[in-house]
Amino acid sequence: MRNFLIMLGTTLFLTTACQAQHMEPTKDTTPHTATQHVQQQGSPAVYPVTKSDAEWRALLSPMEFHILREKGTERAFTGKYYGFDEAGSYHCAGCGAELFSSDSKFDCGSGWPSFWTPANDAAVHSERDERYGMVRDEVLCARCGGHLGHVFDDGPRPTGLRYCINSASLRFIPAEDLEKEGYGEYSRLFEEANQGNKKL
Ligand SMILES: [Zn+2]
Repeated sequence: MRNFLIMLGTTLFLTTACQAQHMEPTKDTTPHTATQHVQQQGSPAVYPVTKSDAEWRALLSPMEFHILREKGTERAFTGKYYGFDEAGSYHCAGCGAELFSSDSKFDCGSGWPSFWTPANDAAVHSERDERYGMVRDEVLCARCGGHLGHVFDDGPRPTGLRYCINSASLRFIPAEDLEKEGYGEYSRLFEEANQGNKKL
C-alpha cells in the first residue's frame, strides 16, 4: 500500500511537472514578445479605412493590391526601397498613413526594407501568421489593415525588432516634400481617415 501511495505521488508529481513544462514554452516562445501590438483576441481587428476589393484595385497597382490586400510578398532584392537610404517618411501605399521613418531604416541584408521601429506606436498592427508552416508576426497598416510584411525579434537596438516590409506596400515621401506637398496626391485618401480621427 505504501509503495502504491509513493507511486501515486510520483505520478502526480510527474503529471504536474509535465503540465508545467507544457506551460513554460507556451509562455516563452510566444511570438507576441516580438511586438506589443499583436492582436490577442479572437475577434478580427477593425480598421478606420475600409474599401471593397474593387475600390482597392482601382487605387492600387496589381503588385500593390497583391501585397496589401492578398498578403503577398515581393521577391527579395527586387523592391524599390531596398538599398534606398534617402531621408523622409514611408507611408502606406493603400491609405497614405505614415508608417516608418528613414531614421529607423537599416540594412540587414534580407532583401527587403527593414526598420527597427514604426513611426509611432499606433502606426502598425500585428497579428499571428501561421501560413506556410511558420509562426510569424504579420505587420499590417493600423489604418487600413493592408499587409506590410512581418516583424521579427532579431533586430538591432534599441528595440531589438526587425520590421521586414515589402517596398510595394510603401510610398516614400522625401523630407523636403512632406510639408510642401501637404501629402499632395494622398490628400483624397487621407480624407476618410481624418474624418475618423476627428471623432476621437
Ligand atoms: Zn494603410
